[in-house]
Amino acid sequence: MRIGILALQGAFIEHKQMLDRLGIQSFEIRQKRDIERGLDALIIPGGESTVMGKLLHQLELYEPLRARIEEGMPLLGTCAGLILLAKKLSNDSSVYFGTMDMTVRRNAYGRQLGSFYTEDEFRGIGKIPMTFIRAPYIEEVYGGAEVLAVVDGHIVAARQGNQLVTAFHPELNEDLSVHRYFAEMIRESSGEYTKNSAAALKRY
Ligand code: GLN
Repeated sequence: MRIGILALQGAFIEHKQMLDRLGIQSFEIRQKRDIERGLDALIIPGGESTVMGKLLHQLELYEPLRARIEEGMPLLGTCAGLILLAKKLSNDSSVYFGTMDMTVRRNAYGRQLGSFYTEDEFRGIGKIPMTFIRAPYIEEVYGGAEVLAVVDGHIVAARQGNQLVTAFHPELNEDLSVHRYFAEMIRESSGEYTKNSAAALKRY
């Protein structure tokens, strides 16, 4: 299993460290040729969604990554990563990948609550630590998206098929359970994505 971590900006090193601890191979995606070598799954880290959105286009990573996401490549998006996947932002007119059926509020916790830590239930895992940094939350999910965690009445984690998103930063705590959940998700899709993309490549 080879997981690509989008490394344009933000908290990507911490994701790599989590995967290292789980013994999972990963590599950084900085330019187009990094994805041409093939990847089984993708992590989009936290950072600044506007900056990442711009760089994705400038570096011509947007189209190939979007195509892979639509083909069902497993993906974990945290914080800004979650923003990049939303079909709609309630307080911003931008749409980036727009592959998940959800409406998201950027910087949703305002200034006072810019950053905070809590522990709460994550469906399928149990109680886990959650660190929020100028975080968004999900105002609404619909269609194929399902809620995985709610904190103080706000949705902070969701999943749609092979796309998994958290408003908090699972990579900033010692707890490995979200990354383990993601690895399990990749295994469950049992290389289906890899098989399909190999078949797609053959057609060319
Ligand atoms: N506030 C950032 C944004 O809007 C997200 C913050 C984060 O990723 N920690 O993109």
